[in-house]
Amino acid sequence: MKCDVLVVGASPAGLMAAISAAKGGAGVILLDRDLAGLDHAANTLFEGMAAASGIKVEDCYLKKELEGMRILSPSGQGASIPAKGYFIDRKKFDEHYLRLAQSSGVTLLAGIAKKSRLDGSRRIVFSNEEEIEAKIVVDASGVSSHLAYGAGLVPMRHAEDIAWAMEADIEHPGLGEEMFFLYWIGSMAPGWKATFSPAGGDRATLGVFVRGHGQNVQPFFRAFLKRFRAYKKGQYRDIENLKILSVRRGGDPICVMPGEIVADSLMVTGGAAGQSGLAYSMRAGTICGSVAGEAVAAGNVSRGSLSQYEKLWKREFYWQYRMGRASLQTLAMMKDEEIDRLVRGLSGKRLISGGSFAKKAGYAAAIVLLFRPKTVLDLAVNLMRG
Ligand SMILES: Cc1cc2nc3c(=O)[nH]c(=O)nc-3n(C[C@H](O)[C@H](O)[C@H](O)COP(=O)(O)OP(=O)(O)OC[C@H]3O[C@@H](n4cnc5c(N)ncnc54)[C@H](O)[C@@H]3O)c2cc1C
Repeated sequence: MKCDVLVVGASPAGLMAAISAAKGGAGVILLDRDLAGLDHAANTLFEGMAAASGIKVEDCYLKKELEGMRILSPSGQGASIPAKGYFIDRKKFDEHYLRLAQSSGVTLLAGIAKKSRLDGSRRIVFSNEEEIEAKIVVDASGVSSHLAYGAGLVPMRHAEDIAWAMEADIEHPGLGEEMFFLYWIGSMAPGWKATFSPAGGDRATLGVFVRGHGQNVQPFFRAFLKRFRAYKKGQYRDIENLKILSVRRGGDPICVMPGEIVADSLMVTGGAAGQSGLAYSMRAGTICGSVAGEAVAAGNVSRGSLSQYEKLWKREFYWQYRMGRASLQTLAMMKDEEIDRLVRGLSGKRLISGGSFAKKAGYAAAIVLLFRPKTVLDLAVNLMRG
């Protein structure tokens, strides 16, 4: 098979890359191993992220609108932050964007990409089904991608910092009706967070995202489940009997930072490139696809031409991701007692209390991270308030 742009992986970034390359006039194939039964994990986002990414959250996949998040420290100190958020039906979300891709002229193909080889100004991808020859291959196959590595790129700068996650769909009468996401930080989920996300009705998810403890984070999940039941005991009858319906595992590249993301005839986007998050990775995919479309139209698919994608991505996102990483590194170094003090300070009048400027900056950065869509400007404002 031949095409202008082959996108590997119907991830949020891959879908948007395919759509935007096709809109730019390129002939696009979108290849995914599970096209018939996509089962992706990410299902929450905030309005700020969606707006910054140019994404309109559509009614056809919206499950529940939330009022904000509550950050909880290890000892149960809490600070509420209003920020409109969404719980989405991920299956319907994927179907929506697959339909959009098809109506933009993208050919959907089921198959597993094994490796690629550069052949002049084209790249050949060998899948389990056939060989596909493309002017540009976009690797959007997630954190466990091997295509980019196989082509000699190191697309994540700190791959060792992937947060490994275990998330369960749970059911208990009325649990999904809550209006705030709950995010615990501290040693119950070292390096990132433990989450409760209400999905409406009786449904919700519980998850742990852990850095620095390997890929098997089940012990953290078990301990968190126990803590969650204890925390909600006074609020729900029989919470000990909440049902776990299904479990998903995977990696969240929350602070790995993109590394080398373009080569001749090759671009990397989304989780594979360390561009974490549903909305932000969609924006990254959009930039990637539009540069791919332009490169095909101009007849120049060299690394130099494709590096426009890297430049545009950096202009929009580099500092947010840089701050995100700095924030998480700070958080990972904080002891539970320090996090307790920080969250207690947040729930009071002053956002940041006491300490040197550097300490304040570190604390503020940790909190800025939890807003993720917030920018460095927010950090400056928070510091001034402190
Ligand atoms: C448990 C969990 C929960 C999360 N929750 C959220 C959340 O609520 N909100 C948020 O913003 N972020 C969340 N994240 C982070 C988020 O998933 C990612 O940052 C984001 O969705 C980007 O996805 P991705 O690019 O990593 O690709 P994925 O979603 O991993 O998709 C990769 C696609 O590529 C396909 N594929 C892989 N290899 C091949 C191959 N060789 N050939 C063909 N196809 C292939 C797969 O079938 C899959 O469809 C979560 C992460 C995890 C692990």
